[in-house]
Amino acid sequence: MTTVITGGSRGIGAATARRLVRDGHRVVISYRQAAEQARALERELGVLAVRADTSDEDDVARLFDAAGEDVTGVVNNAGITSPAGPLAQLRTEDLRRVVDVNVIGAFLVAREAARRMSSGSIVNVSSGAATLGSPGEYVHYAATKAAVDAMTIGLAKELAPQGIRVNCVQPGTIRTDIHRLSNMPDRPDRVASRVPLGRAGEAEEIANAIAWLLSAEASYTTGAVLRVTGGT
Ligand code: NAD
Repeated sequence: MTTVITGGSRGIGAATARRLVRDGHRVVISYRQAAEQARALERELGVLAVRADTSDEDDVARLFDAAGEDVTGVVNNAGITSPAGPLAQLRTEDLRRVVDVNVIGAFLVAREAARRMSSGSIVNVSSGAATLGSPGEYVHYAATKAAVDAMTIGLAKELAPQGIRVNCVQPGTIRTDIHRLSNMPDRPDRVASRVPLGRAGEAEEIANAIAWLLSAEASYTTGAVLRVTGGT
């Protein structure tokens, strides 16, 4: 069984690659810029790493070409934020890029999966922000993740007759580089006191949920949006 993980070179994607290799998957990861990290994972885990920008349909097609015929799992994980702030201060180019990667990119990957998979499981990575809205930080990002949730529900129904399950994980605040990239490197520590479980999450805790949704144990689960947020 081959599983494609987009944005697999670091963070939640890399943790998922580690977990799925342990579970016996043949794993293909995509990366956009972090070639060195991707090559290191190739050596460490024996995965195949392919450079592919998920917002580019030709790159997405190349990624699936490289993965081969027997793709039974897709983790639609690549996603970005932009410098954070109230909507009034956000730049148009950042709004466009976040929509392009988080919505169009997620659609392009899901569409390629729908075209090529004959059965299996797709897991989309959304965010707890989809239902909280992220005021003052990134309402645009939260809205793109709500789109991912809606896509999950529709696609689950559309692809069920083909034996393809489609589910979604909504991570809460997880310790990865994404917070540095939105100019809030201390965000995991800052939000900890507001999280019912009292701490930010770790990438492995999201990987565990993704692995379950991909597994045969989730054989009757489709269209589910699974919140893994420590209770927020
Ligand atoms: P990260 O920044 O560490 O990793 C994101 C990965 O996506 C990177 O490998 C990056 O190269 C890749 N990527 C970004 N744009 C891409 C593009 N256009 N094409 C291909 N790859 C691209 O962040 P992360 O925290 O591991 O995020 C993974 C997913 O989890 C994202 O969809 C993110 O929105 C979501 N998420 C993260 C958190 C969190 O607190 N860390 C919370 C909720 C949701």
